[in-house]
Amino acid sequence: MNKNDVIAEAREKGVKFIRLQFTDLLGVMKNVAITIDQLEKALDNELMFDGSSIYGFTRIEESDMYLRPDPNTFVVFPWRPREGGVARLMCDIYNPDGTPFDGCPRVILKRTLAKAAEMGYTMQVGPELEFFLFRLDEDGVPTLTTHDNAGYFDLSPVDLGEQARREIVLTLEQMGFEIEASHHEVAPGQHEIDFKYSDALDTADKIVTFKFVVRTIAQRHGLHATFMPKPVFGINGSGMHTNQSLFKDDANAFYDTADPMQLSKEAYYYIGGLLKHARAIAAVTNPTVNSYKRLVPGYEAPVYMAWSGRNRSPLIRIPAKRGASTRVELRNPDPSCNPYLALAACLTAGLDGIANKIDPPPACDRNIYHMTESELSELGIGSLPGSLQEAYAELAKNEVIKGALGTHIYEKLAEAKAKEYDSYRVRVHQWEIDQYLTMF
Ligand code: GLU
Ligand code: MG
Ligand code: MG
Repeated sequence: MNKNDVIAEAREKGVKFIRLQFTDLLGVMKNVAITIDQLEKALDNELMFDGSSIYGFTRIEESDMYLRPDPNTFVVFPWRPREGGVARLMCDIYNPDGTPFDGCPRVILKRTLAKAAEMGYTMQVGPELEFFLFRLDEDGVPTLTTHDNAGYFDLSPVDLGEQARREIVLTLEQMGFEIEASHHEVAPGQHEIDFKYSDALDTADKIVTFKFVVRTIAQRHGLHATFMPKPVFGINGSGMHTNQSLFKDDANAFYDTADPMQLSKEAYYYIGGLLKHARAIAAVTNPTVNSYKRLVPGYEAPVYMAWSGRNRSPLIRIPAKRGASTRVELRNPDPSCNPYLALAACLTAGLDGIANKIDPPPACDRNIYHMTESELSELGIGSLPGSLQEAYAELAKNEVIKGALGTHIYEKLAEAKAKEYDSYRVRVHQWEIDQYLTMF
């Protein structure tokens, strides 16, 4: 799509408003709405906005930022009326002097993709997003009650969640997603929708769009969709398993028929890089206090840093498919992450593995959760960070992953996350009351 295609399609589809979208550092989608009359100006990169109110975007003295819409991301929202329709464009943020802004997550991912391209690679990514659908109370406030356990005597013919998920899938399809699977997950009220892999930038755009569509459609069914990693103690949390591969000259660079596992040298080094940097990457792929409540034994989420061709318990799994589908599935990311930064961090780690020929440890096909501490340490299997604070301490000393984020983003994030952790740390939580109030 180019500028003229976008304008023609917008007019043809009766679009009245266009939302210019981008994410802040935390991956929260922001938008500026314009009318169709301003579309041409926007596509000529002439639209400015005041970035000073968006966290991590600018210093006060540089508050005028430019939005550069990517014409390839034009899509009409199917749930809006045909008359006076609404569409969106994803944007990169540029400085007033016409240079890309270091604080824009989409710019950061593009830079990392350009580094991969210099080495001859493109990155393909397929995410598996899990989420919960919860009921709203009479005042419209989200609860932790799911439609599934609405009650034994509840005779509603179709489950509200299943109905909402069906409409979510249909809507996503209308927006150009190719849905590969959609199913109820293990926990009550938990769902998963998988869409077809695509190049990393397109996938990151799709992930932010996905979350926004799921929330919007859920709301229309009177439900609250949450991508919080662990909303309920004692049941599975929500992950965003991230399937990654590199392509070279239009062929999957991870596939090699000559190898016993049919994996190429590049695939092994990529795994080596991911494992080497996994503890630092966690700060980006698992970026909330709550993320670390998910990464505990017993709930199908990874804890230990190992890889396997078969077993589901380790951090990295190699799904059985080969040929163009040969890929590495990283299992710790969760859907609270900023996908642009998460993919930039993963790719940087994998490329570091390739550039420095980092061999991964031998594959671990045993159930790691059944191993003793001494077996784990004998095999050199460490664990992921146990808290957001630990992850940031790891990131602080990892120049490779910090390099992927750039100084601006790293510093702003470190500051925001230190505050977030501190605000959590100083509060008295329900568990403490239950545990100590009557004991002491
Ligand atoms: N919900 C699990 C997690 O937290 C993953 C379940 C699965 O294997 O799909 O990662
Ligand atoms: Mg799943
Ligand atoms: Mg999976």
